[in-house]
Formats: sequence, C-alpha cells, structure tokens
Amino acid sequence: MKKERRSPILVTRSSLAPFEEYEELIRKLWDTRFITNMGPYHEELKKSLAGMFGRDTELFVNGHMALEMLLQALDLKGEVITTPFTFVSTTHAIVRNGLTPVMCDVKEEDGTMDPEKIEALITEKTCAILPVHVYGHVCDDEAIEAIAKKHGIPVIYDAAHAFGETVNGTPVAALGDASMLSFHATKAFNSIEGGCVCFDEKKHPGLADRLYKLKNFGITGKESIEYVGGNAKMNEFSAAMGIVNLRHFPEWAAARKEVYDRYAEDLSGVKGVRILRKPDDVTYNYAYMPVVLDPAYFDRDKVYDTMVADGICPRKYFYPLVNDCECYRGVLSAAETETPVAYRLSKTVLTLPIYPDLPLETVDEICGYFEK
Ligand SMILES: *Cc1c(COP(=O)(O)O)cnc(C)c1O
Repeated sequence: MKKERRSPILVTRSSLAPFEEYEELIRKLWDTRFITNMGPYHEELKKSLAGMFGRDTELFVNGHMALEMLLQALDLKGEVITTPFTFVSTTHAIVRNGLTPVMCDVKEEDGTMDPEKIEALITEKTCAILPVHVYGHVCDDEAIEAIAKKHGIPVIYDAAHAFGETVNGTPVAALGDASMLSFHATKAFNSIEGGCVCFDEKKHPGLADRLYKLKNFGITGKESIEYVGGNAKMNEFSAAMGIVNLRHFPEWAAARKEVYDRYAEDLSGVKGVRILRKPDDVTYNYAYMPVVLDPAYFDRDKVYDTMVADGICPRKYFYPLVNDCECYRGVLSAAETETPVAYRLSKTVLTLPIYPDLPLETVDEICGYFEK
C-alpha cells in the first residue's frame, strides 16, 4: 500500500485561475493605488454574485465576519436554534453576538438539521433558526421555513459549503431570510479569504445599508458614525481573485464531480462504508467527499491514522462536535445525550480528499484502504 510520495495528498487544494488572468487585474492596482475600501473590483464581484444568486449580496473579508455582522444587522436577541455538526465558526458567530445557541440534532442521512426536532426547542426567547448546509447538503428548507413562519422568526443559513449550488433550479444561496457564504481558500470557490451575505432587501428593508456600514466601522457619513461596527471589508486583491476564479468555477465543479463519481463507483458495494450524500434535485459543487464508517467494520480513527502515516490526509469533519469543544463543554447541551445522531456521525465520519485535479488513480488508491 505504502508508496513513495513527494508531498502528502491533502483533503483539498485551493483552486486558482491561471496566474496571467489574476496578474492582468492586479496590475491595474499599481496605477490606481485603490486597493481597499470598496473599490471597483469589490463592486464588480458583488454585482456578479448578486446576479448569480438572484438576490442582494454584500461582500465581507471572510465568511465568519459576514455571519457575525449579519446577526448584528438583524438586531437579534435571545436564543438561536442551530446545529453542532458544523465548523465552530457557526456557533462562535452566535455567541460573539451575545446570543444563546440551542443545539438541534441532525439527520442521519445527510447531517443537516432535523426539522422534526426543531419545535421542541422553541421557547419564547427563540429569535432565529440557523441551520448549516453541511458539506453542501441542502437543508430541508420547506419544513424549516414552515416552522419559522409559524413562530414568526427568521431562518439564517450558514451556506459556507454551498457556493454555486442549486436546488430544483433555485440558487441555494437564495434560501431563507439570509445566507452566509464563505470564499475561504479551502472552499469550492475562493477569493483567498472572503465571504458574503445573500439576502432580500425587499423582505428586510435597510439590511443592505446596515451590512455595508457595519463592515466599515459603522461609518455612515464623513462626520457621522451611527453603528458600533467593525472592520470586515474585502480588499481589492481578494475581490480580483474572486473575479478570475468565478470564471473557472463551473469547470472546477465538473472536475470535482468526476472525482466524486470515481469514489462512488469504487466504494459501491464496499461493506461498512456509506457515502453521506443523498441523490436529490441538488446541483452539488462536490467540495466534500464525506463517508461514514460502520464501527462493525472499521475503526474511523485507525483508518485515519493509517492513511496519514501513508501521506494521505483526510479530515474528521466535523469532530469534535461543537458542543464537545473545550469552550462549550458544560455550557451547551451535552453532545452524546442531547444530539446523539450528530455525536454518532462525528465519531464515524471521514471526509476524503477531493479537488479538481486529484488524479483518479489516487482515488482508487484511497479506496483501497476500505477493502476488507
Ligand atoms: C468555512 C466555514 C465558515 C467560516 O468561513 P471563513 O470564510 O473561513 O471565515 C463558517 N461556517 C462553516 C460551516 C465553514 O465551513
């Protein structure tokens, strides 16, 4: 099994447009000297994304700050129902806004929030539902929306994994009252670091203005500062990277699908390995390759250690569960008893390497670790 390898196979590799395309854009920055503070590339990228999502869009320095400022802009107070089966950023954004996260369990089939478990968690303090399209698996939006509507609270999606996806033809970014997307270097589409909030100004009048100003210290005029904002602006180098990478996103998604299909083919019929994705009406971006290993057949941690020793580096996304992290243990509901499905998934899931130029022979080699 062990092969001599020059460098390890990581879970992902940043997708980059050809250097010349980026160079052409950033060369102009040496002439204009306009390198941040909502310059022309910022405005161009924002417009392109708004067109793609069919909704209002505001850019941020990263996805995390986009979510933090979205929660601030909506002026929420109280409890937010969310999921522990995610990157800690989701929960941190809630807590850093002085809000209380309430953990809802997830569905075994795809790891997204289980709508059937939401209502039992609703109290008079509940101010929002914040589900995550984890691995790009689209949440059961219809069921979640129905509950939110009944209780008169907004649905805010962490759509960090769902860039470029559509469900029955609708952009996933356009679901809910608002969504946050991440353009981090490791995501399906990147602007080095970056992110956005996608929302509907008609439904939330004034949100565009608040988001735009919050990310720039709350400055509302030359001599007026109306909000306690921060600094979360996307700079021109990032925006330029976003512009050139956006041109290539479709070909990257298609290439990742080929890798995904090879995994699906290689792993079909392998006992004890379940691909954590359901076939449905979603156009996926194939940014993640999550598999769940049945403990009767595989010890997830042992498989992980063996692969890493051989220079293949999958990840245990998402382990530990957020409610099991040091900063939340004993503070949030107990992972094992209160969110048992998420707990089980976190102990058995492994996200395998996937990126557009991952050779198919490497996929075959990785799948070799699951042969019994
Ligand atoms: C990446 C990620 C974030 C944070 O996005 P950044 O752009 O890295 O700040 C938030 N939530 C989830 C689920 C993520 O994967």
